[in-house]
Amino acid sequence: MHSMSALYGTYARSELAFERGEGMRLFSQDGTAYLDFHSGIAVNALGYNDPHLTAALHAAADKVWHTSNVFTIPEQERLGQRLVDATFADKVFFTNSGAEALECAIKTARHYFFAKGQPEKFEIIAFTGSFHGRTLGTIAAGGNASYTEGFGPVAPGFVHVPPGDLEAVKARITPHTCAILIEPVQGEGGVLALPADYMQGLRTLCDENDMLLILDEVQCGYGRTGRFFAYEWSDIEPDIMAIAKALGGGFPIGACLAKGDIAASMVPGTHGSTYGGNPLGTAVANAVLDRILAPGFLDHVNQMGQTLAWHMQQLMQSYPQFVTETRGRGLLAGIKITPPVRDFVARLRDDHQLLAIGAGDNVLRLLPPLIVTEAEIVEAMEKLAAAFEAIEAEAIAAPAVD
Ligand SMILES: *Cc1c(COP(=O)(O)O)cnc(C)c1O
Repeated sequence: MHSMSALYGTYARSELAFERGEGMRLFSQDGTAYLDFHSGIAVNALGYNDPHLTAALHAAADKVWHTSNVFTIPEQERLGQRLVDATFADKVFFTNSGAEALECAIKTARHYFFAKGQPEKFEIIAFTGSFHGRTLGTIAAGGNASYTEGFGPVAPGFVHVPPGDLEAVKARITPHTCAILIEPVQGEGGVLALPADYMQGLRTLCDENDMLLILDEVQCGYGRTGRFFAYEWSDIEPDIMAIAKALGGGFPIGACLAKGDIAASMVPGTHGSTYGGNPLGTAVANAVLDRILAPGFLDHVNQMGQTLAWHMQQLMQSYPQFVTETRGRGLLAGIKITPPVRDFVARLRDDHQLLAIGAGDNVLRLLPPLIVTEAEIVEAMEKLAAAFEAIEAEAIAAPAVD
């Protein structure tokens, strides 16, 4: 059936199609409700059909959708200033995606040293198991061979070390090193939350060796861990940070944030984007930010993160044969399971109407919209338990031959 589709075969697509959504739930064309712990991969932070977002989109639709960045875009100016006010950053560049935000981050770091008369400082230390996007630059930054193989020479200027080991980073620092690039919580790689003292160690290495700290908070940022940005948990500040996913609440938009002196060399001609930060996108993103920064919102996320962690622990105690580890921070949560995660995600979707997502290391990734309540967390756990029970029942009905 799918071979009949006109689309590239780059996804192992399910035939399931959604028609509408409300809060934490998506509804398929036949009206079946699905509990969403996927959020379109951490994008739909406010769930579906949020009245404030919908109103902002409708209002923006009656105005100018798009103008070039050679004109002033008031909604973009406002969004940029609000992001600066709420973070370490002094300057913002808007993009259409996470990968483009990373491209801007990498270019900013290299150009900063180039402009200082140190063009030899271009190499970036990145980490095994990381994910930074699918452009030619960001697959090189991620370093995952299954994403680079077959696409010609891998862009030079990246080296990779295992996350969590400061000595391994130290050993790779040379006069060519310009930056360290890391996800404070690895998402795709297997939901690995890096400890605060390790993040502080990276900051110190950057300070001692005239290098920049670039954070990829495309997935773990924007409230998902219970703080506005994950770096806040370790009491450090980056020099440059890439964000996207939840930024537009479903409208494709990303951004690169930087300190003022570091962004200063990015003058006219050095970088650009046709669509990045256009009036429609930034109007929606401003409405998302209204909600994320509203008093109490991040406290709610934080509480729900702790609630989810507690329930995952309970699940592990009840099903030690299926759950071997729980991971993550806040509402970027992972459960390392014994059944193959790809099949298990399909089973949850088809038999239990729960949407979740796989990650590396056979981890089941749970990314509910940030508006999730404890009742929905309990409901998701019941669905997971039911899926484990079903696997057990099938094993009894058809015992495995040793
Ligand atoms: C999704 C993601 C990206 C890439 O974002 P796109 O919008 O798909 O280009 C980069 N880094 C991280 C950590 C991500 O999760």
